[in-house]
Amino acid sequence: APVILSADVHGIDPDLISRNAVRVTDTLQQAGHRAFIVGGAVRDLLLGVAPKDFDVATDATPDEVQRLFRRARLIGRRFTIVHVQFGQEIIEVSTFRALVDPPPADAPKEAPLGGTPPPKRLKRDELDRRTHAVDASGRVLRDNVWGEQHEDATRRDFTINAMYYDPATQTVLDYHNGLADVRARVLRMIGDPVTRYREDPVRMLRVVRFAAKLGFEIEDATRAPIKKLADIINNVPAARLFDEMLKLLLSGHALACLKQLRKEGLHHGLLPLLDVVLEQPHGEKFITLALNNTDDRVRAGKPVSPGFLFATLLWHDMQQRWQQYEANGEYPVPALHRAMDDVLDMQTEKLAIHKRFSADMREIWGLQLRLEKRSGRSALKLLEHQRFRAGYDFLLLRCESGELDSSIGQWWTEFIDADPAGREALLSQGG
Ligand code: ATP
Ligand code: MG
Repeated sequence: APVILSADVHGIDPDLISRNAVRVTDTLQQAGHRAFIVGGAVRDLLLGVAPKDFDVATDATPDEVQRLFRRARLIGRRFTIVHVQFGQEIIEVSTFRALVDPPPADAPKEAPLGGTPPPKRLKRDELDRRTHAVDASGRVLRDNVWGEQHEDATRRDFTINAMYYDPATQTVLDYHNGLADVRARVLRMIGDPVTRYREDPVRMLRVVRFAAKLGFEIEDATRAPIKKLADIINNVPAARLFDEMLKLLLSGHALACLKQLRKEGLHHGLLPLLDVVLEQPHGEKFITLALNNTDDRVRAGKPVSPGFLFATLLWHDMQQRWQQYEANGEYPVPALHRAMDDVLDMQTEKLAIHKRFSADMREIWGLQLRLEKRSGRSALKLLEHQRFRAGYDFLLLRCESGELDSSIGQWWTEFIDADPAGREALLSQGG
């Protein structure tokens, strides 16, 4: 049974809670269901931090949830949830999940577990919705068997992420001593850490992200297995890995996260991106600047372009290959294109960098050569380029890191602000 914490114990400030999240729990409760704000939002509220988004957990099934709200969509196959939308805000509603037995050692791929297998005549979609499945390594492929609230709590990742807040009574249900760990600032896995990492290797990245972002310690038993298990991250589909890397990079603590990844031995041979970023001797200053810049923007609530960010992280790798091709006798532009292809091919295999982002990266990199030249009419044309601003920001970062003569950046800064006569003057003295 959970410990029930009243308002005077947990001290949550109701003003930090999204009104839409409360609307969702109210609506569900009025329809006779149990419903709570759950997970990261409760953790952040206990820390006195305004949560960036709100998740709700309920005993209503996704279909039942959907019927109660005007704008609600079923999302996800591996883990079906409902997105309830209010203007810009989306509240994620998930149904209590059951605990399912760990798979036998010789489990066939995608063995459906957890009670009776659904009847054969169900369509694939329907099957996905009702089943739990794991692969031979114990990794959970689907997790859609509904269960009791205490089971739902136990299959969450860390104790601090397994608390439920009921806005109606202002009480917190704490199943795994999460409050104590919040107060002690400790990340502790629920259950056996090795099993839990095998079920979902992404938890290794999550623990690192939370440690860096919250400034929490990772409890010994939770930390110990990570180095040995590091390789299983390769079993995670590239698209999910990309989502997780993006969360990490946009956490507002990207630099701290990457340092922590290195500390936990999670960088080597795992993701080519991290190898490149953390192991290169030369790009360190540039990447540190870029990540600090990103962290500042995120914390100030400003938008960050993932394409720009990945362009900075992979810049030196790309540049080295570019120089290599040139040294082998290729002309600069074809050499540049080959280098970009190489880098992006390699990254996309493990880390499904979205096409939209890789297109941005190419443009930003491609602009560098042209910006450095600053010659004649083409400088004026560059100002009109769709991605000029990103290319220019990137150039400034290169100047700041000492990689490029800062007079080039200054020239562009003046050129942007100058009137036509001023631009003529700059063009005649420039490149
Ligand atoms: P934040 O949103 O600040 O990054 P969060 O804890 O809310 O952190 P979400 O990814 O939004 O993270 O997940 C919401 C909750 O779902 C978590 O708090 C946790 O209880 C549960 N959860 C998410 N991912 C996993 C996972 N891989 N394994 C187990 N539980 C998970
Ligand atoms: Mg969340």
